[in-house]
Amino acid sequence: MKVFNGLEEHFDRLRACEDYIQFFEEFAKKQHSISPSELKEVIEKVIEITQTCHYEYAQMCILNWLAWCYNSLNEYKKAIDYRMQALFYFKKHKEKKRLPAIYNGLLADHLKLGEFELAITYGLEGIKCANDLGTMEVLTTLIMNTAQVYILMEEYDKSLEMMTLLESGFYELLTQHKITINHMKSLAMFELGDVETADELCGENLGYLQDGNYKIYEAQVLCQIGIIKCRRGDYEGADQEFEAACESALACKMELSYISVLSEWAKCYLQRGNVVEAEVKLRQAYERVAETELVIEKKDIEYQLSQVYKKLGRFEEAFVFLEKSYLNHQNQSTYKSSIYMSRLQNHHKIQEVEVYKLLYDQMNLVSEVGKKITSNLKIERALEAIYKAIKELLDVDEVGIALYDTKERMLDYKLFVDKERYLDLGKVSIDAEYSFGGYCIRNKKDIVINDIEKEYSHYVKYMKYIKNDRKASTQPKHSVQSAIFSPLIIEDRIIGVMMLQSYKKYTYNIEDVNKLKMLTTYVAIALENARLFDKVKYLANYDGLTDVLNRREIMKRGEVSLKANRKKGISTGVIMLDIDHFKRINDQYGHMAGDRVLKEIAGIAKGHIGKSDLIGRYGGEEFLIILSDVDQVAAQARAQKIRMLIEAYCVVTDEGVSIAATGSLGVAVGKDEEKLADIIKRADGYLYEAKGLGRNRVIGELEYGGGRNENEDFNHSMDR
Ligand code: GH3
Ligand code: MG
Ligand code: MG
Repeated sequence: MKVFNGLEEHFDRLRACEDYIQFFEEFAKKQHSISPSELKEVIEKVIEITQTCHYEYAQMCILNWLAWCYNSLNEYKKAIDYRMQALFYFKKHKEKKRLPAIYNGLLADHLKLGEFELAITYGLEGIKCANDLGTMEVLTTLIMNTAQVYILMEEYDKSLEMMTLLESGFYELLTQHKITINHMKSLAMFELGDVETADELCGENLGYLQDGNYKIYEAQVLCQIGIIKCRRGDYEGADQEFEAACESALACKMELSYISVLSEWAKCYLQRGNVVEAEVKLRQAYERVAETELVIEKKDIEYQLSQVYKKLGRFEEAFVFLEKSYLNHQNQSTYKSSIYMSRLQNHHKIQEVEVYKLLYDQMNLVSEVGKKITSNLKIERALEAIYKAIKELLDVDEVGIALYDTKERMLDYKLFVDKERYLDLGKVSIDAEYSFGGYCIRNKKDIVINDIEKEYSHYVKYMKYIKNDRKASTQPKHSVQSAIFSPLIIEDRIIGVMMLQSYKKYTYNIEDVNKLKMLTTYVAIALENARLFDKVKYLANYDGLTDVLNRREIMKRGEVSLKANRKKGISTGVIMLDIDHFKRINDQYGHMAGDRVLKEIAGIAKGHIGKSDLIGRYGGEEFLIILSDVDQVAAQARAQKIRMLIEAYCVVTDEGVSIAATGSLGVAVGKDEEKLADIIKRADGYLYEAKGLGRNRVIGELEYGGGRNENEDFNHSMDR
């Protein structure tokens, strides 16, 4: 094979020296032009050499690249196997810098298998790791890929927020990144109903494609334009775009893109009522996808085929495809609705159109509602959507949702609505003798109650309001008669409980329980997503070691704060804090102990700023504090306080060694119209003075601007 010829010499050099594996890693990185199967051949040859020469390390280095070949060839399970081997090896040998790329690969593999939760988990793990290491290139890719998972989960808001982060100017974006971001934004905007913007983003991408260097992105861009034209009713134009997209996908041997284009084209035919043509396209796509591991695409096409056959009155085929689609649906770890499936299977033999229709409508309704729920990334909005969804689907007087805190064994009620009144229920121990939710969590079981007086004693010792509110005056006007409690579960982990109550007896039948069960799946995902999203946002904005804002974020928030203060007519103070002789601490006690000191000093400073003040890590052992509504005297006094606390504090290491540290601080208060960067510059100047004057002291304008230095007594010269 051609690629091999020039490579023989490099193979020999690898045989001679294990380190030469670097060449092949670079080779793999740059081989956009050869097909994955050709690259795989080269890598397999490399692996053969590493085996003969017993080069374990080199083999592990190249495994992630082999996995990429398998990923491109749609063999995701194999790819995962290889990556796990490499992950295990590098974790064991503590080679952290190798991990983010592997996590990114695992994200991509699980994504294709439709295992969104795992994809997100690896994405976040990778982001954290890359963030710690400061490796920007792979961090950018990881954030981008995580955003893509959210798109597939139909969580457009979340995805858009991540892309906004990418475009904040902090990340260096290459052209291919820009194309992908534009494409994802276009998908999200389209789904959110902003067709105009979606179209503009495609236009921008067409511009990028013009120089012919990014052919592999062409099919998806053209396909998206086709979708937009179809939405606008320009069917002829849409057909042309889809046609071109198919050609481009085939020319680049992009099987997956080709399948997606066919599927979108079919949707377009369905939209204009051409069911026959839609079936042709879907059958073409299904032929290619049926034997693959592409769960998402398969499920989507099967579902579309079931709709097509329903429209054609071929109900038996419709049913078969619906069932297939939901079997794949179930295979996706994120979306399990097992009760629905077992019901579906029970009805398999009957195959009555009426039953089918009923189930179909019910499932559709719930999944529509589910989509609404899961598209909210802020927990408050998710809860609001859940409440609305429940009102839409079920007869309820009271709704409650609680998150479960495993450590504390507490249920934390995030939402409790009693006839449109939002109540604050707070926390309840799951061991409380009156807690139905507790029973539900402890036993991992649903509770369905139709007559509470008769049934409560199966689950709890007593009912709280009866015990507490004996006096008639506090007896509730309505009392609960029927209730359902259902645990919220993700992958066998209980994350909370959902509760519906009604003031009538016998409100809930088995259908209602099933509906609620289906909903709880979405609710669990929504709550989990909200939690994960907060985590990602946290990781992006905070410094991993010291838990204070990172430099970019404090600068951003500082600007906002300065502007707001000016508007309110109050002043803004800046303190620069730098730990004294920190290098010596590192040298004397080790880097780990140095880290501890940094972390604890950050904690001290953080504990002594006000609610509207900010603190961030400005550099290695340098912190920036931004104070609101302080004059020079107050700002310096605050700095003095922090300086004294640092001086008085002693970090004790695990070995029992005490480490003392001091800090120098420069303080400046903003003048009219002075820019934040300039205030910081002045504070930094004073900090420099403080260092020069012997460290462990606060210097500000009071020392230089003619004002009396009230804090002079506090300044020590304890330069060590
Ligand atoms: P000065 O009093 O003049 O500020 O002296 P210094 O030693 O504190 O200042 P210098 O800038 O010479 O050294 C700062 C040191 O901080 C060097 C660097 O190794 C260390 N450092 C930076 N970031 C970290 C970190 O995250 N952890 C640890 N342990 N050390 C860090
Ligand atoms: Mg220092
Ligand atoms: Mg410094």
